[in-house]
Amino acid sequence: MTSLLLDHSGVIWVAGFGVGLQRHDSNNRSLWLRSADLQANSPFSSSDVRSLLQIDNGEIWVATHQGGVTVMDVQLRAIGALQVRSAGEAVATSPAAKQAPPPFRVTAMVQAGDGTVWLGTDAELYQFGSDGHRRQLRRLPHAGGPTTRLLAGHDGSLWVGTMDGLFRLRPGVEQVVRVARQGGQVLYAEISAIAEGPDGDLWVGSSKGLFRVAAGERELRRVEAEAGAELANPSVIGLLFDRQQTLWLDTAVTGLHRMRSWDGQRASFERISQRHGVVSRPFGANLISDARGRIWTHMYVYDPASDRLHELTAADGADLGTGWFYSYARTHDGRLLFGGSRGILVVRPERFDASVYAPPLLVSELSINGQRVSAGGILAGLTLAPEQRSFSLTFSALDYSDPGRLRYAYQLQGFDPDWIDSSADSRLASYSNLDPGDYVLRVRASNRSGAWSPHELAIKVRVMPAWWQSWWFQLLVLSLLVAMVNALVRLRTRSLRLRQGELKRMVRERTAELETLALALQRESAALEESSLTDPLTGLRNRRFLTQHIEADAALAVREYESHFKYGAKLREDAGLIFFLFDIDGFKEVNDRYGHAAGDAVIRQVSERLRRVFRDTDYLVRWGGEEFLVVARSTPRAHAADLAERARAAVAEHPFDLGDGRFLSRTCSAGFCCFPLSTQHAAALDWPAAVNIADAALYAVKGAGRNGWLGALSAGGESAEALLAQSRRPLAEWMRSGGVTLVGSAPHDGLAEAGFHNAVAGEQVRSVSASVEA
Ligand code: GH3
Ligand code: MG
Ligand code: MG
Repeated sequence: MTSLLLDHSGVIWVAGFGVGLQRHDSNNRSLWLRSADLQANSPFSSSDVRSLLQIDNGEIWVATHQGGVTVMDVQLRAIGALQVRSAGEAVATSPAAKQAPPPFRVTAMVQAGDGTVWLGTDAELYQFGSDGHRRQLRRLPHAGGPTTRLLAGHDGSLWVGTMDGLFRLRPGVEQVVRVARQGGQVLYAEISAIAEGPDGDLWVGSSKGLFRVAAGERELRRVEAEAGAELANPSVIGLLFDRQQTLWLDTAVTGLHRMRSWDGQRASFERISQRHGVVSRPFGANLISDARGRIWTHMYVYDPASDRLHELTAADGADLGTGWFYSYARTHDGRLLFGGSRGILVVRPERFDASVYAPPLLVSELSINGQRVSAGGILAGLTLAPEQRSFSLTFSALDYSDPGRLRYAYQLQGFDPDWIDSSADSRLASYSNLDPGDYVLRVRASNRSGAWSPHELAIKVRVMPAWWQSWWFQLLVLSLLVAMVNALVRLRTRSLRLRQGELKRMVRERTAELETLALALQRESAALEESSLTDPLTGLRNRRFLTQHIEADAALAVREYESHFKYGAKLREDAGLIFFLFDIDGFKEVNDRYGHAAGDAVIRQVSERLRRVFRDTDYLVRWGGEEFLVVARSTPRAHAADLAERARAAVAEHPFDLGDGRFLSRTCSAGFCCFPLSTQHAAALDWPAAVNIADAALYAVKGAGRNGWLGALSAGGESAEALLAQSRRPLAEWMRSGGVTLVGSAPHDGLAEAGFHNAVAGEQVRSVSASVEA
């Protein structure tokens, strides 16, 4: 030995010439290997153990692959060997024998209820006594080839599993008989496991499935499984009823199962190895349960209480080489023995527990941007500059006992929502393109038993922002953005305001234009109105004006007289109207002689003279070419004659200026009619009737010689109807008859000649008029 090392976990590492590197785990007090004795003359000089059995006197019988059975004491010290007489009386295992007999290779052993021990070899059974002499009692052949399993049934039967089916040796019988399937069919299959159930049933695991021989029966029956709860693989290589009578099964490819239910017809199975992620591996076939209910083989331990499956490796001390199926035993003191190519694995299960070692955890490598950098000081934290876009970290837990079984997990807090599991093969956490900020990289590791070590790594990782990722830059961008939006809004608001002002101004302008237009239009229409009511030559009113205005005056006059005569209201002196008609005498001659313009001048001057005679409130109307109608308003009818005379005189007294230096005298004739003509029956005659009477009077004046006037002051009548009837006679006739009070200009013989004798004239006019008024 050249070097010794005791590591943190308690393992002593040994180095030396010719021994390589070896270790001793001082923590392991549970498993050890009983390897072959070094002494050549020892009965256990060969370590390849094919079968193991402890018999009731405590001896442990160990059958090896080389041949022979070594007998050991409870300390597993070799104390002897079996003497076998095969094929006659020869004695086996004599190294001195000249002609070596075929090796006595025992592959199965069992102690029967009578204390004798049965050994199975290739195609034979041997029975030995179990007393100190270990005498061979019987030797029986069977037809099944190499023996795989032996089981002593509670009924005294010896059950023999072989490579080619199941056999049975009933008590008191000298023949090993094949057990057939139901219906006589032969089961040609390797019998890998036999177990007796609590009610005496025999459960048989074979390469062709699980069978059962019910208690008291002679035939094998297939154990059917419920749909969906079958064995994952039909080839059953291990069977065990534990202390709770739970049936455990191992299958060739899919490992450990537990029978969950059995109703006498169908079973259901739970796949334990598969559930723990163990695939394409048997559980180890050699099922033994320990005092804590754990299920063992030389390969695994399964703890139903914690549902944990632990694989036994060299790190646990399970350094058996190749373990043999069917080579195992449970000793009376609770030890578990497993046979393998390197000897006997001895397990003290009560001392076995999962490793509690809490390995330290280290960072073994750091890379930034794919470049290895020193990981020294990493525990103080890692700061990544903006251009350092990726990093990876390799870590390692220092449990050298079985590094491949360590588990790792890591989580970058602030990025990973959960832990990320990682196997021992890839102890690497790698990140790239992280956002700027602070993170914590946590790493944890387990020991070989899967228990998480409390020694976790927590490395602060700070990713620095690039200048454009910094808060002040982003704030700047944000405020610029806000300012831009603000400016845009302001700009737009201003332009909208301007536009609004423009629109307002336009509306104001258009409104003013429209108002001006409306005003002009109003003026125009007023002028038009005026012009439509005015005679262009004289500026007097026209017929249309009269018809628009006279109705109201006429109605007022009628009302006033009616209210006087009907209701006794006081009558105004001037309540009433007087209709005058004037016609220029011999006017045609003016036109004929002096031209039309001269005629127009005369007409204009006549109208001016009439204006001077009448009042502004009177209506002066150009009634026809050279005819004028004047309606005197608010004028007592006693003044009618006066007015007629003054108008006649105004025309006749002065010559008219013809405009070309010449002057011409002209006269006019007039007729008038007071309105209402009948004061008592004011409504009997309307104003057109009054105009007609005035016209008739004017006509009478023309007939009487012109340059004069005749007027109707009043009309007598018993009733309105009578008056109306009179007015429908030729007017001149009515007027001549004396029904109308007439006044005429004097001297006027012509009127009298024309029959108007009743027309008073001269000085009488005034008194007549006054009386009429009264
Ligand atoms: P009398 O004494 O019977 O009234 O004779 P007179 O010539 O006046 O006859 P009348 O009244 O029948 O003739 C009217 C004439 O006046 C006819 C026409 O030539 C003329 N006249 C009508 N209107 C105008 C006008 O506006 N201007 C001019 N210059 N002449 C007109
Ligand atoms: Mg005329
Ligand atoms: Mg005339």
